[in-house]
Amino acid sequence: MLLVVNGLYDDSEHEDPGHPERPDRVTAARAGVTDLHLGSDLVIVPSYSATRDELLRVHSGGYLDELGAFCYGGGGDIDPDTFATVDSMTIARHAVGGGLAVIRELQRLGDGVGFVVARPPGHHALEDRAMGFCLLNNVAVAAAALRAQGERVLIVDWDVHHGNGTQQIFWDDPDVLYVSTHQWPLFPGSGGASEVGGRHAINRTVNVPLPAGATGDVVRRAIDEVAAPVIDAFDPTWVLVSAGFDAHRADPMAELQLTSGDFAEMARSVADFAPQTGRLAMFLEGGYDLEALRASVHASLSSLLGGTNEVERPSSGGPGGDHVARVQRERRAALEIVRSNEDEETES
Ligand SMILES: [Zn+2]
Repeated sequence: MLLVVNGLYDDSEHEDPGHPERPDRVTAARAGVTDLHLGSDLVIVPSYSATRDELLRVHSGGYLDELGAFCYGGGGDIDPDTFATVDSMTIARHAVGGGLAVIRELQRLGDGVGFVVARPPGHHALEDRAMGFCLLNNVAVAAAALRAQGERVLIVDWDVHHGNGTQQIFWDDPDVLYVSTHQWPLFPGSGGASEVGGRHAINRTVNVPLPAGATGDVVRRAIDEVAAPVIDAFDPTWVLVSAGFDAHRADPMAELQLTSGDFAEMARSVADFAPQTGRLAMFLEGGYDLEALRASVHASLSSLLGGTNEVERPSSGGPGGDHVARVQRERRAALEIVRSNEDEETES
């Protein structure tokens, strides 16, 4: 199968010395692609600067103006975690444009799998605020572009952190289903099982918070038992993955215990949710141990392309086995409350 990847755009000037979200990450992720040795099955599409109209589907005009002015004025620290340089707006717009270019190429080919490897990452970026290393929400702009074409979009976010920005942006949108597995408690603090979507989009948000130390078997159960029935009922026409690799056991930012083999298995599960080939793209989010990032990119793409050459075995045996049932109970209770509020409003 073809792999469609966005072309390299120089992101070296979006850097804050010593910050973990650094240009080497893209180099490592791209090495994971090279390791596949795809030859002519690798399709590279140039990134471009996402237009204001494309960004406005997700971000407010005021925020885009403010972020642009901050960057072009020299940049600095937006918050204790999040930096911008004079070039960051330009680089962030190309990261978004890389995603849109990959989607368009998949639509043109009607075949293949997409991988958007660019930074800064996006899933913490809110409609009107940068946070958590993220400036513009790459996956959300891509989902919004597909939604504008009438598609029903599933976003699976397996980054170790909850994608609060993506959840907020599509909170009340019935045509986008957001599914996240993440360590909890952890930054940014949101992502409880009882967060199930707004009144026009009840059950269009699925959160599975997991305890520190959880292994791949629990994540697989969460996807199979909690997410899969909701996804099947939603019946997506496109699947986008917020693919952070910071849930890997070697990652310094969190304490989940996944291996590259687990990412391969998750990729296989997610591919089953896509209605046909040519309608699935992975977007790089977190992942801060370069070796783990390279191996996990390689393993998950290999799996999406039908290969089986992961080096690490899938993990199991960690805590959280009882957790999936608890998440189900919390979700059901929350859904009952939201639905009964809805009934009362309809009656009054
Ligand atoms: Zn993350």
